Amino acid sequence: MNIDIATLFPEMLENYLSQSIVGRARAKDIFTVNCHDIRAYTKDKHRRVDDTPYSEQKGMLMQCDPIFNCFEAVTAGKARPHVIYMSPQGKTLTQQRCKELAQMDNIFILCGHYEGVDERIIETLVDEEISIGDYVLTGGELPALVLVDAVVRMLDGTLSQPDCYQDESHYSGLLEYPQYTRPEVWHDMRVPEILLSGHHANIAKWRHEQALIATAKKRPELLEKLELTAEDLSIIHKVVDFDK
Ligand code: SAM
Repeated sequence: MNIDIATLFPEMLENYLSQSIVGRARAKDIFTVNCHDIRAYTKDKHRRVDDTPYSEQKGMLMQCDPIFNCFEAVTAGKARPHVIYMSPQGKTLTQQRCKELAQMDNIFILCGHYEGVDERIIETLVDEEISIGDYVLTGGELPALVLVDAVVRMLDGTLSQPDCYQDESHYSGLLEYPQYTRPEVWHDMRVPEILLSGHHANIAKWRHEQALIATAKKRPELLEKLELTAEDLSIIHKVVDFDK
């Protein structure tokens, strides 16, 4: 997978993208990512990339030309990428959308800043607007990192095996079961006995039950989207009384 990110602040992204799991996946060529400085594509002699919005007294808006020139230069001679604009007006990012994006070969992400971007660049270039939640940040850089991180960890080879992400919260629609590490007893609290039993089938059953319980307690609305068996429902009803 190749990802291009257009931003006014490439150094904000570079640091994160070179570290830890994402950085190692990048170093192993599991994906490529290049951050492009939109300011390098302005023809303005003062290197301006923004201007005041029409009929507004406040804020600055990123202009079309530098973004368009950046896109044209980066994609010249290549297949057209899927173009995403990180925006609080987009659909909220979900694990399901990350799974779908992880199947794509080429993604171009536009990060806005200040008041955002001129609407005409969205009309001209953008296939999809994605939000990371119903709040407003100063720029699209953190949202772009959130998206890249969530997508890249599902690419083959990023994590040691697929169950590392398939067992986690949201992949199947449930939250993850509770997990424990050494010591076996901490502040008088014991690790659940079943996890020490070595009985794989029983452990898998316990984990599924615990995932149902965690979801019912913490995010009950997620259960509405799932096809639950009669047994699943009876486990949930033993611990959560939805009528209260
Ligand atoms: N004026 C815009 C509005 O009200 O919809 C908000 C602009 S915001 C201050 C500046 C930039 O930050 C946006 O262009 C976008 O790229 C990014 N941004 C802010 N909040 C975001 C969010 N929740 N999800 C994704 N991107 C966001």
